[in-house]
Amino acid sequence: MGMFDSIIFQMNCPNCGTKMDNFQSKDGCCSLLKLNFWEVNNFYCGCPYCNTWVEYNLKLKRKPNRKLTIRDYKKSVEIPTIKEQREHRKKYEEFAKFIKEGLDNENKNSKEDKE
Ligand SMILES: [Zn+2]
Repeated sequence: MGMFDSIIFQMNCPNCGTKMDNFQSKDGCCSLLKLNFWEVNNFYCGCPYCNTWVEYNLKLKRKPNRKLTIRDYKKSVEIPTIKEQREHRKKYEEFAKFIKEGLDNENKNSKEDKE
């Protein structure tokens, strides 16, 4: 039902450098838990700014008694076309502006009217 678990992992976008910390996986019980990446075989995230897709897949089968590191995962990166990036960035900036204006209005309203 479109549910997933959050993965505790972050990196900078390989395309634009924006922090990516919203990794998700459907390998766990998909009830919006926070899991460590070594608990799942596959996890992924889209860059909030340019929409570059980063996905990690476990290379080999898990072995007991060995802790996995990020090197045990194969990283794939899918960079959208320049046009797609530009469209995504526009949405991101409009959203950021919308949030900022909302906060500014809240601040204005919470101060007493001076005008
Ligand atoms: Zn990016």
